[in-house]
Amino acid sequence: MFDKVLVANRGEIALRVQRACRELGIKAVMVYSEADRDARYVQLADEAICIGPAPSAVSYLNMNALITAAEGTGAQAIHPGYGFLSENALFAERVSEAGLAFIGPRAETIRLMGDKVSAKNAMRNSGVPCVPGSRDALPDDSDEIRRQADFIGFPVIIKAAGGGGGRGMRIVRSSEELLNAVAMTREEAGRAFGNPAVYMEKYLQKPRHVEIQILADRHGHAVWLGERDCSMQRRHQKVLEEAPAPHIDRILIAQVGERCARACVDMGYEGAGTFEFLYENGQFYFIEMNTRVQVEHPVTELVTGIDIVREQIRVAAGECLSFTQADVRLTGHAIECRINAEDPKRFLPSPGRIGTWLMPGGPGVRVDTHAHAGYTVPPYYDSMVGKLIVHGATREQAIARMQSALAETVIDGIQTNVPLHREILADEAFIAGGASIHYLESRLKQES
Ligand code: ADP
Repeated sequence: MFDKVLVANRGEIALRVQRACRELGIKAVMVYSEADRDARYVQLADEAICIGPAPSAVSYLNMNALITAAEGTGAQAIHPGYGFLSENALFAERVSEAGLAFIGPRAETIRLMGDKVSAKNAMRNSGVPCVPGSRDALPDDSDEIRRQADFIGFPVIIKAAGGGGGRGMRIVRSSEELLNAVAMTREEAGRAFGNPAVYMEKYLQKPRHVEIQILADRHGHAVWLGERDCSMQRRHQKVLEEAPAPHIDRILIAQVGERCARACVDMGYEGAGTFEFLYENGQFYFIEMNTRVQVEHPVTELVTGIDIVREQIRVAAGECLSFTQADVRLTGHAIECRINAEDPKRFLPSPGRIGTWLMPGGPGVRVDTHAHAGYTVPPYYDSMVGKLIVHGATREQAIARMQSALAETVIDGIQTNVPLHREILADEAFIAGGASIHYLESRLKQES
């Protein structure tokens, strides 16, 4: 096992990894930008190193600074968290070349899954169901593009092979719009992701977003840890997640979960990962894989009792997973609300100094946050300041717990989306379960 790990991230996930290290008896080295100098998790660290000025391009994305910090402190491994460099194959490669362990899959796996066309092909080959669509990047030939669209059937969606963060996608409803849409998405993709390749998929009209969590070690073991429903989204960003996904046949989920685990063995996957699917009319369709820990991992931890970050660190050190598929049992229901520093109506970021910060507690309530009263939310990074997660014996109990937890929550000094979460938790369609990925936005539009 490692005795020192560098955490190449900030905020709540940096603290989450620090806690996992501490429980494993590992020293955590925290890095910070000048804007995060006073953060409490930095003060709590065994060692802390400033890696640059506030903007992430010159701090949390600075590969040289991070690797030098790891070498200088004698850390043997780097945990990338989520976002920043967590899915950057070049970073994983450079970390390995420096003789350090990257806590995540091998660089070539990150590269394979980072290109959505190659990812889909790999999944198809392992028997994971995919959205019907083109097998390769679209060619230049207009007739061939038209032929593929007619074969799939309108509406279709044109997506950037190298896309991410909900960008680089265009829905096409008729053949007149097709070629122009392909040209525009190509142009955007080239500019935004440095890769102009695009592909085409059937556009699903009212899907849900359901994803499978997996963990795998380098000794050929891969397990799936149930699923999460992340359909409550705004601008393709998840707002609230839950596990398990309501009203889906458990046998069907088990079939998909087993295929995901098999796909991990096929590609020699190592660490934590998530297979994202759209679910519509009783069918799962793979859209992409995330090769890192996700923001919403706690809902899975609460229903399985498995510490995902701990397992990530253990398998990166070459150990076997500490449990088998037969040990994975889902108990009860968990819900997570992402708390963002933002105006709850117009969704503009609301950085600044937090005055009151009262968090809920009691049975089945977990709060993952680096924030506190007197903490200043810097304007440079993602607006998420914490996550409120509850666990109950049933979905009804989890909903009641979350309603009560949100009622106890008081934050002032900054604006947050807590009022939005209160509305969602009181919403009939949410309470019924199974709303589509468009539900929240259409509800918000009706209000405005
Ligand atoms: P990103 O990597 O940018 O997050 P994804 O491929 O995961 O891209 O897609 C992001 C979101 O776009 C999905 O959660 C879904 O809301 C929508 N989307 C993607 N593909 C389709 C599709 N074939 N049909 C309908 N919606 C889609």
